[in-house]
Amino acid sequence: MKETKFYSSSSCSSGPQKSIFLWLKALLLTALCLCVLSSCSPPQQPANPESTFSAETAEAETSQPSSLLRFHVIDVGQGLSILAESDGHFLLYDGGDRAASSAVVAYLKKQGVESLDYLIASHYDADHINGLVGALNVFPVSRIMGPDYEASSKVYQSLIAAAERQGLTVEHPEQGNYYPLGNSSFQILSQDDPSRDGNNRSIAIMLINGNNRFLLTGDNEAEGEEALLASGLDLSCDVYVAGHHGSASSSSWDLLEKAVPEYAVISCGTGNSYGHPHAETMEKLEVMEIQVLRTDLQGDLLLVSDGTSITCTPAPCNDYTPGDPEDTPPSLQNEETGKSEEVPANSDASTYILNTNTRKFHLPSCSSAEDILPANRQDYTGSRDELIAQGYSPCGRCKP
Ligand SMILES: [Zn+2]
Ligand SMILES: [Zn+2]
Repeated sequence: MKETKFYSSSSCSSGPQKSIFLWLKALLLTALCLCVLSSCSPPQQPANPESTFSAETAEAETSQPSSLLRFHVIDVGQGLSILAESDGHFLLYDGGDRAASSAVVAYLKKQGVESLDYLIASHYDADHINGLVGALNVFPVSRIMGPDYEASSKVYQSLIAAAERQGLTVEHPEQGNYYPLGNSSFQILSQDDPSRDGNNRSIAIMLINGNNRFLLTGDNEAEGEEALLASGLDLSCDVYVAGHHGSASSSSWDLLEKAVPEYAVISCGTGNSYGHPHAETMEKLEVMEIQVLRTDLQGDLLLVSDGTSITCTPAPCNDYTPGDPEDTPPSLQNEETGKSEEVPANSDASTYILNTNTRKFHLPSCSSAEDILPANRQDYTGSRDELIAQGYSPCGRCKP
């Protein structure tokens, strides 16, 4: 009994001691956990960046050396090709036309590309996908993305065949989705719409590195841009790759006012037959004091983001002259002719030039009207409203 009592009393006395010990241990563990958590490196690119791309998160990431994003705009002449790299992960967005295809592959090799995480065909025009075929023939690719239509061209067939040889099928990404790229990520901004033409089905993306944002819209023109604006997604950016090679049909005021980029990049060929970039676009960029980098004047461009600021090599040329020296911006056209803006929209009949293929109408003086194929060209005398009622839309260049 005594012994039992002894033991029981001893066990009784050890009870509180043990629980205090356990309590202390728990406290210590909690403190340790908190300590580990607080000293832990700031969160890397989260699985669902949508919820966490707050200013604070982005700020915490800025000082990491591995958070550099290298954004190469490869000079492919008339076309587009962009290579983005973060922490050894690569994205190739478009690959330029046939003449540039081997140069794109050589450029990628020089950058140490051994495989590509993503290959994006903005749309299936030759000036965007020839080099992608070249890249697919050389580098293993994890994922290929493109809009959901088929082109009738040979180069499109080659693209599909080259993808199939790697066991890949073209993915059609959903608007709003995020994809990780090393320490950065990109978001799909566009929503594919079969009622639009190829250019306006271009996959638009926002490449995000910390606080820095790069907007790529491919060859989207006014119609595609309107859809981007209607999405309600955040289009604000530091770098904007001017849509459709700086054409006046793209880079609408509405888009620029949402994007408010610090830099605009223009990818086009020196002396190209389209007159890219157009005076209207260059005037907008100049008015908004957006710095300009151009492949036609400067060759390959490299923009490096550390998450907070961007370094450009070479420095922006800020040359706002259009590709075609004869091209005059709308503001000067109005000064010269003294018309256009004063003509009320629903005034009496006037003459317009119609493109029955694109269903755009132009002023007879519009330089775009000269390029209309005779089979698609039609003179029309009547009112602007009548034309709109017939499904025609005014040219973005001459703004009839
Ligand atoms: Zn193009
Ligand atoms: Zn195109």
